Amino acid sequence: MRLLEDLLRPNIKALAPYSSARNEYSGCTAHVYLDANENPYNAPYDRYPDPMQNELKKELSRVKRVPIERIFLGNGSDEAIDLLYRCFTRPGIDNVVAIEPTYGMYRVCADINDIEYRPVLLDDGYRLNAENLLHACNSDTKIIWICSPNNPTGNSFLHDEIVKVINGFDGLVVIDEAYSDFSSCHPFRLELATYSNIVVLNTMSKAWGCAAIRLGMAFASPEIINVMNKVKYPYNINLLTQRHALEILKNSYEVEKWVRTILLERSRMVSAFALLPCCKQVYPTDANFFLAKMDNAQAIYDYLVEKGIIVRNRTHVALCNNCLRITIGTKSENNELLSALRQYC
Ligand SMILES: *Cc1c(COP(=O)(O)O)cnc(C)c1O
Repeated sequence: MRLLEDLLRPNIKALAPYSSARNEYSGCTAHVYLDANENPYNAPYDRYPDPMQNELKKELSRVKRVPIERIFLGNGSDEAIDLLYRCFTRPGIDNVVAIEPTYGMYRVCADINDIEYRPVLLDDGYRLNAENLLHACNSDTKIIWICSPNNPTGNSFLHDEIVKVINGFDGLVVIDEAYSDFSSCHPFRLELATYSNIVVLNTMSKAWGCAAIRLGMAFASPEIINVMNKVKYPYNINLLTQRHALEILKNSYEVEKWVRTILLERSRMVSAFALLPCCKQVYPTDANFFLAKMDNAQAIYDYLVEKGIIVRNRTHVALCNNCLRITIGTKSENNELLSALRQYC
């Protein structure tokens, strides 16, 4: 790996971060706070939230088995994705490489930050090809984006193929594990100590059932995490989000139950889709959704919308012609989708 300081955008390397009132105070015995120009009334919403989210990180560290100094928290994973561009890529000069098809935000954030985006098609069976990804890199490539289990294809990539990418590249490899709770693959989140050039993304939006509160995580070396903390908005995670996340983390038993139910429903849905005459193929999935090739995705999508059922039409995405992406819902939602399709096909 290149030295971190060689990967950093020069202005970020030189940045003196904003020092908030809550940052400068670090003792724990204070009881009178007259340092942040807050209104003393309307507790608890009158006070700025903890800018470093220490209590929440302590709990996350326990549940995710990642040391606190390796955790960054963002307003959804989307904040972490954007921050990685802002910290490590020079607009108009650098480029990033990513698998194709994959999650759309990697490209949108590249466009916003004026960074060249180099998509590399997956192999047959939506398999990852390390060699192809590495071939697309040059000396200005700063980040390689991998998502496993991948969205929208649903499959996980071979661990050793991802390792080939990590070992063959001298910049950052971001591995988005948003769906890893639904997969039995060993997560890279637990291999941070082995690979200093990876950033692993997690989110509360999927298995943890908290898409509304906007909480995403990046796990990486303490050096990378320090840079991200320097660039983020000082109070990027609000009090309500920190509180609700703490609550749900203490209910991880409930979350495990949801995941088991979703996985059972997933196998029921995949079998049922395979029997639909209008379904040509269901692709293997390791996530809480599956991709299905239909005989006419647009027509079926339109028909379902008419019935008040929304799925994701991926027909215009590379390698996904005539594909619909189906999220696993509750049993009754899933049944409603199935009976609508049985009427149609
Ligand atoms: C849904 C999803 C996310 C979650 O993003 P948040 O901003 O945390 O809600 C991240 N990555 C992928 C690949 C996703 O599909």
